[in-house]
Amino acid sequence: PDQPAPPRLHVLLAGPRGFCAGVDRAIKIVEEAIRRYGAPVYVRHEIVHNRFVVESLERQGAVFVENLDEVPNDAPVVFSAHGVPKSVPAEASRRKLFYLDATCPLVSKVHREAEQHFARGRHILLIGHAGHPEVVGTMGQLPEGTVTLIEDEEQARLASVPEGMPLAFITQTTLSVDDTTDIVAVLRSRFPEIHAPAKEDICYATTNRQAAVKAIAGQAALMVVVGAPNSSNSLRLVEVAERAGCPRAVMVQRGRDLDLALTEGLSTIGITAGASAPEVLVEEVLARLRERFALTIEEVVVAEETITFKLPAALNA
Ligand code: SF4
Repeated sequence: PDQPAPPRLHVLLAGPRGFCAGVDRAIKIVEEAIRRYGAPVYVRHEIVHNRFVVESLERQGAVFVENLDEVPNDAPVVFSAHGVPKSVPAEASRRKLFYLDATCPLVSKVHREAEQHFARGRHILLIGHAGHPEVVGTMGQLPEGTVTLIEDEEQARLASVPEGMPLAFITQTTLSVDDTTDIVAVLRSRFPEIHAPAKEDICYATTNRQAAVKAIAGQAALMVVVGAPNSSNSLRLVEVAERAGCPRAVMVQRGRDLDLALTEGLSTIGITAGASAPEVLVEEVLARLRERFALTIEEVVVAEETITFKLPAALNA
């Protein structure tokens, strides 16, 4: 007998999604270091927050550690895309380690802003999430006590700041654009003279991925965000989708993680991917959906991205 035709499902693919220029560069730095110097190449912290990427680099000869004291003296070490406190390259230099810094240039830009504010005698308010490695790295550009972390509107209202000092704010690069606007509004009303970044610190990739999700959220009965629970920009995509009217948003790390029961009876869903999630994982989600559905796929592109970053000079020669 004929098989019944599979039900149809319309898939809206958010564009842009997935890898950003900073993640692409960080992965290339590790791959190129292995090619030039041979395995093992040590990497301090997950190079980008994605298990699939980390495991494929491990297979090529990368060794991931959390602390520099796990790195032997004679092996190269790469610092992750999120950035590191100044104490880390200082310690690497003290031990005469050969290191490559894969900090995204857009994170380094925020580090330099922090240093400039400090040099001008300003106390800094950093809008970001406690414990995220980027926040640890940015706070670690300056002496302890010179940066106050602001996580939400309530902290913006209540935070105490040193008397009589001029103020400036900077932000993590992967925040919710909308939440940050609200937090900044609170800071500006409390401190009308506060110095703001010349160009905002939330990066182009974060901004574009959130805008793309918003563009499809209203039509999708489910949003699948390919990403990792420790990836800040991926977590924000789940929130943005729900706030923009999508009834449900779920994060999956791999195609097999998608619970097909969630798609029961749906006619349109959306898919996006965080900045550290490779496109092959989006393909996995599509393959998973094809187990049950005949798919029609429509890509909704809100911005074209052409930005790329050069590798560090040591790898360019
Ligand atoms: Fe750089 Fe933005 Fe990508 Fe982070 S998300 S690595 S800041 S481009």
